[in-house]
Amino acid sequence: MPRSTPYTRFRTTLDAVMKKLNLSAAEKKLFSEPQHIHKAEITIKRDDGSKAAFPAFRVQFNNARGPYKGGIRFHPAADIEEVKALAALMALKTAVVNIPFGGSKGGVQMNPKELSRRELQEVSRAYIRAFLKVVGPDIDVPAPDVNTTPEIMAWMRDEFEKQTKSYSPAFITGKPLSYGGSLGRDTATARGGFYLIQELIDRAALDPQELKVAIQGFGNAGATMAHFLHNAGFTIVALSDSQGGIYSPEGIDPVRVEKYKRKTGAVAGEYCTGSVCDIKKMKMDGVQHITNEELLEISCDILIPAALDNVITEKNARKIKAKHILELANGPTTPEADQILEKRGIQVIPDILANAGGVTVSYFEWVQGRSGEQWTADRVDHELKRIMLDAYKAVRRQAYREKMSYRHAAFAVSIKRILDAMRARGWVIS
Ligand code: NAD
Repeated sequence: MPRSTPYTRFRTTLDAVMKKLNLSAAEKKLFSEPQHIHKAEITIKRDDGSKAAFPAFRVQFNNARGPYKGGIRFHPAADIEEVKALAALMALKTAVVNIPFGGSKGGVQMNPKELSRRELQEVSRAYIRAFLKVVGPDIDVPAPDVNTTPEIMAWMRDEFEKQTKSYSPAFITGKPLSYGGSLGRDTATARGGFYLIQELIDRAALDPQELKVAIQGFGNAGATMAHFLHNAGFTIVALSDSQGGIYSPEGIDPVRVEKYKRKTGAVAGEYCTGSVCDIKKMKMDGVQHITNEELLEISCDILIPAALDNVITEKNARKIKAKHILELANGPTTPEADQILEKRGIQVIPDILANAGGVTVSYFEWVQGRSGEQWTADRVDHELKRIMLDAYKAVRRQAYREKMSYRHAAFAVSIKRILDAMRARGWVIS
C-alpha cells in the first residue's frame, strides 16, 4: 500500500467525489496535480556569521476562479506533499465560499523557534525574493499559516514593495492593522465556524444551554471559538493544547483557562505543572486531566478539532461520542475515519467549509487593499455571515440531493464551480 500522506488522503476524497460526479478523464486530469510547483533554497546569514539554507516551496494548485491564494508555513515538517495537499484544499475552500480566488500554499522547511527575530526576518524576505516572479496581488496572494504572523506578513509586504518599487497593500493578507490589515481577521476563522454551529442548532431547534462541546487546540482558532461558544451559552466540557487537556462535565470557563495558559503556558496550568497535578484542587473543582486522545472520545454533542491534521482515524472513529464534528483544523479526519463516522450517523462539517472564515476575511482585506477603503468590524461580520451561510446552504443542498456526506458535498460544490470557470475560460476540452 502506498504511504499515506496529506496529499494521498486528499486524493482519496477527491477521486471518490470525481467518480460520483462522473467527470470525464480530461476533466479529472485538470484536478489531479497542481498547476505549478515552485521550489527554492533560501540561504540566510545566521547571527554567529555562519550560513544556513532551508528548502522552500510555493505550490499553485488552481487559478481558474482568480489569483492563487494561500498561506505560508514555517515548520520542520513542511514538505512538498503537505504543501501540495494544503494548496489543493485552498482551491476547494475558496470555491466553496464562492470568493474569486484559486488555491496555493507555501512553506519553508525549518524550525522558526531556533531562529532569532533578525534571522526570521531574513528568511521571510528571502522567501519573497525567491518567488518574486510568481506572486503578486493579481497572481498569487500569500497569507499567514502555521508559525507565520502578522509581523511576518508586514516584512513580506515591505520586501515585495521594495523589490517591485510599488505600493501593494493587496499583495499579502493577514497584515497588522497598522499596515493594511482588516478588522476581524484575527477572529474570522472561529467566527465563521461559529455561524455554522448557530445555523446547525437553529435548524435542529436545539438549545445551546443543553449542548456540550469539546475543543482540541487552544490557539487562535480553538481559543477564540471557545470564547464565542461560552458566551452564547454552550457548555465547554473539554479543552486541550499540545501538553494535554482538562475535562469538566459541569463546564469550563475559557477566560479562566486563558489566564492560566498565559501564566503557565498550558491549558491545564491551573491544576498541573508538567505531569504533576494537584488532585485535591481538581476534585474540588470537578475537573479531570485528560490526554488529547481522550478528549476526542469525550461524551459531548459537538467536537471541534482545532489543532492538528490526521487525529480522527480508523483507530478512534468508532469511539467518538459527539453527534457533530466541526473541523476548524485542516485535515483532522482521515478518509477511512470519514466512512466510519458517516455509517454511524455522525455529521462532519468539513474543514474546507468549517474554517473558511479565515480566507473569507482575507478576501475582504484584499478588496480593502485594492480599493483603499477601510471596512468597519460590523461590515466584516455581516459579510462573513452571509458568505458562510450561503456556502453552508449550497453544501447542505448538494448533500441532500445527491445523498452525500457534507465533505463529499463540499468537494462536489467546489469542483463544479472550478469546472464552470475552466469551461468559461475554454480550458476544458471535451
Ligand atoms: P495555533 O498555533 O494558534 O494553535 C494551535 C493549537 O494547537 C495550540 O493550542 C497548540 O498548543 C495546539 N496543539 C499543538 N499540538 C497539539 C497536539 N499534539 N494536540 C493538541 N493540541 C495541540 O494555530 P491555529 O491558527 O489556531 O490553527 C489551528 C488549526 O486550524 C490548524 O490546523 C490550522 O491549519 C487551522 N486553521 C487556522 C486558521 C486561522 O485563521 N488561524 C484558518 C484555517 C485553518
